[in-house]
Amino acid sequence: MISIEQTIELNLTTPLDNCCNCGVSGDLNLYETPMRRTRFMLFAGTQLTLLETFPYCGKCKGSAARVRKNPMAKFLTACMVCAALFLVLVLSASGLPEFVSENLFYASAIIAAIATGGYFYLREKDGGERSYYQPVSLGAIKQEFRSGDIRCVSLKLRNAAYARVLAKANAEMVRAGMLQIDGPK
Ligand SMILES: [Zn+2]
Repeated sequence: MISIEQTIELNLTTPLDNCCNCGVSGDLNLYETPMRRTRFMLFAGTQLTLLETFPYCGKCKGSAARVRKNPMAKFLTACMVCAALFLVLVLSASGLPEFVSENLFYASAIIAAIATGGYFYLREKDGGERSYYQPVSLGAIKQEFRSGDIRCVSLKLRNAAYARVLAKANAEMVRAGMLQIDGPK
């Protein structure tokens, strides 16, 4: 499905002031954080990976490698859940209420959509201060259409304190318009 893959590195300055996920200071290590952005067109997709290292505390280091699922992957997950549910419902059809056994496919599609949506929603909210997924993600990317050169990358940070630290440390790139750093809304 993905036909074009591009990996970029901005070599950002990533200060070791706080954990980029939960914000604690002290005992931090830099971990590679591959941020991905996939764009789908009609028959092809482009995937851009930005490789940077960010400081994480021991409790948050696992989140560095957990890339958020894109909408297409979420849809495919829902399809698989739907297929599995349909099978279960078919096998147990005799014991089901009539309105369910007459609409097995719709029943499994609806349950699958609710279950998958709920799962990803809870994952996103999980842990309060700490994000289960990468605390840094790629926002909008301005790219030269023909050459594919990257003109501006915007990063979304989950932690407001680290967003400020990062913007300060890379102020020159921000001023030059090559980098945009957004904290939590
Ligand atoms: Zn942390």
